[in-house]
Amino acid sequence: MPAATNGTTHSSRKTAKDDVLARAVRLPPTMSPDGTVTPTSEYFGVNTFGARQMRDKLPKKVYAKLVASIRQGKKLEIDIAPTIAEAIKEWAIARGVTHFTHWFQPQTGLTAEKHDAFLSFDDDQQPIESFSTEQLIQSEPDASSFPSGGLRATWEARGYTAWNPASPVFIVESAGVRTLCIPSVFIGYNGEALDEMTPLLRSSDVLSARAVELLELLGDEGVYRVFTTLGPEQEYFLIDRAYFAHRPDLVMGGRTLIGAAPPRGQQLEDHYFAGIPERIQACIAEVEYELYKLGVPIVTRHNEVAPSQFEMAPRFEETDLGVDHNQLVMATLRKVALRHGLQALLHEKPFAGINGSGKHCNWSMSIHADNPELDGYNLLKPGKTPHQNLRFLLFLAAALKAVHKHAGLLRAGIGTSGNEHRLGANEAPPAIISVFMGESLTHMIEEIASGKPSNGGAAAQMIQLGVAKLPEIQRDNTDRNRTSPFAFTGNKFEFRAVGSSQSIAFPVTLLNAAVAEAIGELTEQLRAELKGRQSGKGVDEAVLAVVARAFRETAAVRFEGNNYAQEWVDEAERRGLLNLRRTPEALAQLVTEQSRRLLTGLGILTKEELDSRFHVRLERYVKDMLIELHTLQQMVDTLVLPAAFTYANRLAEGAANAKAAGISVVPQVAAANEVGRLIEELQTRRRALGEVLARAEGMHEAAEECAKLLTAEGADRMAAVRATCDALELIVADDLWPLPKYREMLFPV
Ligand code: ADP
Ligand code: MG
Repeated sequence: MPAATNGTTHSSRKTAKDDVLARAVRLPPTMSPDGTVTPTSEYFGVNTFGARQMRDKLPKKVYAKLVASIRQGKKLEIDIAPTIAEAIKEWAIARGVTHFTHWFQPQTGLTAEKHDAFLSFDDDQQPIESFSTEQLIQSEPDASSFPSGGLRATWEARGYTAWNPASPVFIVESAGVRTLCIPSVFIGYNGEALDEMTPLLRSSDVLSARAVELLELLGDEGVYRVFTTLGPEQEYFLIDRAYFAHRPDLVMGGRTLIGAAPPRGQQLEDHYFAGIPERIQACIAEVEYELYKLGVPIVTRHNEVAPSQFEMAPRFEETDLGVDHNQLVMATLRKVALRHGLQALLHEKPFAGINGSGKHCNWSMSIHADNPELDGYNLLKPGKTPHQNLRFLLFLAAALKAVHKHAGLLRAGIGTSGNEHRLGANEAPPAIISVFMGESLTHMIEEIASGKPSNGGAAAQMIQLGVAKLPEIQRDNTDRNRTSPFAFTGNKFEFRAVGSSQSIAFPVTLLNAAVAEAIGELTEQLRAELKGRQSGKGVDEAVLAVVARAFRETAAVRFEGNNYAQEWVDEAERRGLLNLRRTPEALAQLVTEQSRRLLTGLGILTKEELDSRFHVRLERYVKDMLIELHTLQQMVDTLVLPAAFTYANRLAEGAANAKAAGISVVPQVAAANEVGRLIEELQTRRRALGEVLARAEGMHEAAEECAKLLTAEGADRMAAVRATCDALELIVADDLWPLPKYREMLFPV
């Protein structure tokens, strides 16, 4: 039989399967040949110039000043910088480092680096290792090729990076090459924020200033800073790299654009928290090993709901460090997976029909104070005394006010092409931003909001209101609603709608901003309430009055039911809550009058900086969509249609052979006709796709219009093409199908 016309087993997919079957488990680097394992504490943080190294290497006075500047969020005193630079250089060179780079976060969602050698030459032209104070503190990458949101005309293309000493420098090891990375902000010459970190730091400062003011009003002394904390739980898929390599859609855009649903998905509910497969375990352990050396405190690992889906979570840290560390988590996952023949998929929805991936951002606010009773105190943790609980209620009210007023803005912060497939799909929090508080807290909030008449002193009133039961809240929240996009979980909020692949700097910046504004408003209201009272008296009643008002105002944003249900969509509409399903409408919330007032008013983003962020994100959405459309078109033309034609041909040859042999029943004819019908349907739908693509390509200057076109017609036509491709996948002979199937990628044998 002539193989060429009859169709041979598709070699690439078969080779992929052979590769998968041949894989061996790679043992973790912490295990020596004799089987002993090094305890984590022995190497945790060895590749960071963190607290331990600084204490060992810096003169006592310099160390004290550096720690003070970090803790108080103040600028580094320039006189200690040379000593620090010298100590960092010696430490790095002793560890085999040859190059250094400022490591920063342009608006690509990723990090950026440009390596410079320590190498320089002395007066006699002899090679020496050098690293100056200026090199530590400042660097000038060419900014012209980073996304700027169309502001390059008015801004200078040049920008510079500046060390953020609150995030320790670290050494990245890659292929045996060691590079010193200096976490930095990236700004233009007039101080414009070109990156994700600068607005985040500004938002932290603003929130701190507002919160300190409120605490002072409450009589809390010695507080010099309030900082936000972040514990991002990272979800991801790990699939075999051989399969990944044969899927142009995964390689180009991170998600499958076609692929029929396998008979078994996640319906057996047997993957969540099940035993971690050995090859995956080896990979995750090596990821953790690399992260531990970098000082990233990963403490949790488990199987997630979908097959081949996993999660890793760190112990929470101060927000900017948490953001840096999450970038390292994503980069290390991607890098180390390859060593194991695996590919990490961080996209929000790599596979249709099964769960996607999010990044639950656990967030709270804590105190730095001279006063040991207050230092380290979590402001969202219910306390033991009436004073602590009133303070708790105030900060809780601030968060509720923030989400109530700026739900649209928070939705904008998580608006990406990837997250669009996840928000509202039935496993993920919907695009409607609401807050879950838990039963006992809801009960208490409602009692306070109803403003029951006071009866005696504040303490009595608090007990009457049930505030004394606050410690129960934590227990109440262990069995919590997992469908809410923004849930109170006992001593922190969990912002669940954030996407798995995105940088969390921006969503957290917006959250910080919204909460800072709310804290400011509560402070004003409290001040006004106190005015009418005798000094020192009635603080508790005043707080309760302010809090009650906030609870009443924000009632619409609280929701305790099932956020996945259609009833909630209807109910939310009645409540007037936004349901921004698609990315362009979500992004538009960035530039509303209200958002502008918030962000420019607090000095977190200038009008230009905000506009640039809107444009960068909208353009990114358009680019992501265009990449997907092109990829799908190419896959149809060069993979799906050829496979379908080959199969049709095989059927035709079979029919001809049967007829020649005098066989009267020739079912190949009907089968070939069905394949032919699907081929024609696919061709028609493929043409319609190409037509939208051509129109979109012609709209270079009109990003908003283009985004709308792609959101509506682009997405619909992609779905139509997919439906026919998936129907073909289910009838074309398996040996002819060129693409690894869902069952192969998700259920490795
Ligand atoms: P789960 O949500 O899976 O039940 P946990 O509640 O223990 O797990 O914690 C989830 C994440 O929340 C962890 O990364 C943890 O460090 C973080 N977290 C705990 N407390 C805080 C806090 N005060 N601020 C920010 N994140 C926190
Ligand atoms: Mg959680």
